[in-house]
Amino acid sequence: PRSADSYDKLAKVGHGTYSNVYKAPDRDTGKLVAMKKVRFDTSEPESVKFMAREIMVLQKLDHPNVIKLEGLATSRMPYSLYLVFDFLGSDLTRIISRPGMRLTESQIKCYMQQLLSGLRHCHERGILHRDIKGSNLLIDKRGMLKIADFGLANCFSPKSTRPLTNRVVTLWYRAPELLLGSTDYGVGIDLWSAGCLLAQVFVGRPIMPGRTEPSFEEAFRDFPTSSHGLFTTLLDLDPSRRGSAASALQSDFFRSSPLACDLSEPPVVY
Ligand code: ADP
Repeated sequence: PRSADSYDKLAKVGHGTYSNVYKAPDRDTGKLVAMKKVRFDTSEPESVKFMAREIMVLQKLDHPNVIKLEGLATSRMPYSLYLVFDFLGSDLTRIISRPGMRLTESQIKCYMQQLLSGLRHCHERGILHRDIKGSNLLIDKRGMLKIADFGLANCFSPKSTRPLTNRVVTLWYRAPELLLGSTDYGVGIDLWSAGCLLAQVFVGRPIMPGRTEPSFEEAFRDFPTSSHGLFTTLLDLDPSRRGSAASALQSDFFRSSPLACDLSEPPVVY
């Protein structure tokens, strides 16, 4: 690993359960990176296990719509480990929560296509993300979307009988089988979260914020007809009928006009 001193830590831009994230230019190249500083808590051995798993998962992935682990950096006294990523200045939640912001249909397609392409890659490599939500979908100035935060991700194998924890995924995006306690779930949980997000970008707010009974049938009526098939598949109560990220990318929604906008025309004012 490189020395953490080879980056110029400018500001803290975020934090998670076991980490702080800093914006920092590389002192040699000037390139902006995000440094995720891992808190090793010896009284909490889980923190080390989670970090090792996150690094292992990130090393298996290589796709334009998945955040790339550029490398590791360390500092001494006190010892710290940093995960170094490309820096992306915004995320989907931040973009859609701007007052008055409504994405156009082609912008929605552009982001959903990128999300599903990234998910298809993760699932093909045997990785479940397990925390798909707007704030984990980082977006750069050109409108490029990258799935980030693999802190809850895990490897899966359809043949495995090893039980998986169902205490995953932020509640509003959590699939019904998880809520019912399933420990042998699969890619369907990420697809359900993607379906919640798709509805959220159309409606302008989360569709199941966990306080009231969801009433999304009604909201669906206002969505473009070409999107109905995709919604009903991604949000099927039966996970075996949700298909795959690959099949979702083939849905009518992405083939009908207006088509997804091009990345060369930035999808939103940044
Ligand atoms: P945790 O796993 O601890 O939740 P995250 O990986 O989600 O940590 O990072 C926490 C926050 O740091 C994110 O919500 C985001 O605001 C910021 N962040 C993380 N990675 C990047 C990045 N590559 N570029 C810019 N900001 C980032």
